[in-house]
Amino acid sequence: MNKFLPILLPKYLTRTKLTIYNRIAPITTSNTSRTIPPLIWLIAKPITKLGAIIAGRGFRKWWTALPKMKRKIFLAHLRRHRVRYGSSIGITTFTGFVYYDSHIQETPLTGRKRFIIFTNEQLAEIEKLEQEQIFMIYEKDILDPYSPYVNRAMRVANRLFTANREFPEVDKIDWKLTVIDSRIINAVAFPSGDLVVFSGLLDFVENDDELAIIMAHEMSHAVLQHAAEEISHTRLLDVISIGLVLVVWALLPTDLTAAIAQLVADRLLKFALELPYSRDLEREADHVGLMFAAKACFDVRYSPVFWRRMGHVNPEILPEFLSTHPANESRAQELETLIPAALRLRKECNCYELPPHLVPPRPHLKIKKIQI
Ligand SMILES: [Zn+2]
Repeated sequence: MNKFLPILLPKYLTRTKLTIYNRIAPITTSNTSRTIPPLIWLIAKPITKLGAIIAGRGFRKWWTALPKMKRKIFLAHLRRHRVRYGSSIGITTFTGFVYYDSHIQETPLTGRKRFIIFTNEQLAEIEKLEQEQIFMIYEKDILDPYSPYVNRAMRVANRLFTANREFPEVDKIDWKLTVIDSRIINAVAFPSGDLVVFSGLLDFVENDDELAIIMAHEMSHAVLQHAAEEISHTRLLDVISIGLVLVVWALLPTDLTAAIAQLVADRLLKFALELPYSRDLEREADHVGLMFAAKACFDVRYSPVFWRRMGHVNPEILPEFLSTHPANESRAQELETLIPAALRLRKECNCYELPPHLVPPRPHLKIKKIQI
């Protein structure tokens, strides 16, 4: 999703920030009293992890140093009070489950159930810093409102917004558009509704249809609140990881074996749970974005064409299972399976008839690495 890779330094000196339909965004309806202030989490993670290492290691050292007799007494004490200790563990597990269950929400538009601990407002607060940083880095490269690049991106964004504003989830966001002069081929959408498009993307796309597919994908991330979901999921994995750290440092015989086991467990959590989750969110944004583009009457058949061309000019360095994003070819294949449904939706929206053949792409030069 919004992975930002500023690779090439930009050069123009004009600046503007446009708002698509300059409206005040209403406050979202999430229940803020249920959520934990995000900054506390950010600080809590490393401290808690360190605390778990110290506690686990401390227990192991204490246990190793304990005379045999005292160990027996300790184990007998545990056996005697097993109901008390067992019920404490049970109550803690149950409370954790209730917390998890009370933070399950339905994803807007797709209805998928997911775990979320942040409201979009809280997340916008966290991301504000990243957003401000981006605007600071590229301040001199924000294109003038009269630039053809801005006109084009605005035209496509407006068409997407107008066609999809019947969804309250789309309409309630205060969309803003900024076009940055840079060879980076990318676009980013923040939870606040700030859409950032790089001129490199506008140069790379063959037509407005491809541009719409990418912009709609980014808009979908914001509408589906993927940033809040991804951070919540990462926090959940953090809790599991901290529990594992405690167990590993308490049970393994030496610091070295505990450190290695911790590293392995962290990698496993990342490859088995974190990265696949991120790729699923990308797929969902591809899916919803395609439908947004279809409703706005764009030629959705260009979606796999775009990703295949991207695969040619910018092949992946990492295999898919090590990446936060699906591989270009698998994205193209999945989009291909969705095209019939998108074309049906397009028809239901009384869109103009599409020409039978797609225009073949121009030959492209090698471009810089990007992720959309
Ligand atoms: Zn994405």
